[in-house]
Amino acid sequence: MDLYSGYINKLIDELSGLPGIGSKSAQRLAFHLISMPEAKVRRLADAMVQAKQNVRYCRECFTLTDDEICPICKNDRRDHTTIMVVENTRDLAAYEKTGKYTGVYHVLHGAISPMLGIGPHDIRLKELMERLSAGPQIREVIIATNSSLEGETTAMYISKLIKPAGVRVTRIASGVPVGGDLEYIDEVTLLRALEGRVEM
Ligand code: ZN
Repeated sequence: MDLYSGYINKLIDELSGLPGIGSKSAQRLAFHLISMPEAKVRRLADAMVQAKQNVRYCRECFTLTDDEICPICKNDRRDHTTIMVVENTRDLAAYEKTGKYTGVYHVLHGAISPMLGIGPHDIRLKELMERLSAGPQIREVIIATNSSLEGETTAMYISKLIKPAGVRVTRIASGVPVGGDLEYIDEVTLLRALEGRVEM
């Protein structure tokens, strides 16, 4: 005999498929949702569907945005000759929060991981190379991938790919804790890592 109703079971099942949500959290969330006013639940569901339907990749930097070109790429006051390469949109947001970085970004949406079978063609690397050859003269590419094994592998790979083109390639300082996701690191540490970047 099932402990809960079929609908609750289905809800718990869907929720526990989300990253970071174990079965206990899924149960807690499911019961919370059931107890919420229907209008509120509907707003939440609508927000999820609308985000899914309307959010897309910026044509320039591939961050997630509502428009064809994101507000950062659109901004003339940003330095379009400096590109910071990050693994995902959350990392971009972490650097934006410091308010001190004035260049633009390139979002890879992942990192190279031979163990997980993720190769250079599975992330937005080709698009980065296209930007470098097509766009305005790029003076520096700052590689700000995580300091995990995957992040370091990706950084080395990109550096080898770009350097022959004569572009300056730097790597954020290793003050960032090894294996640490950039989004969990405080702004001061991020700034220090950026300012202390080294040539690759
Ligand atoms: Zn953009």
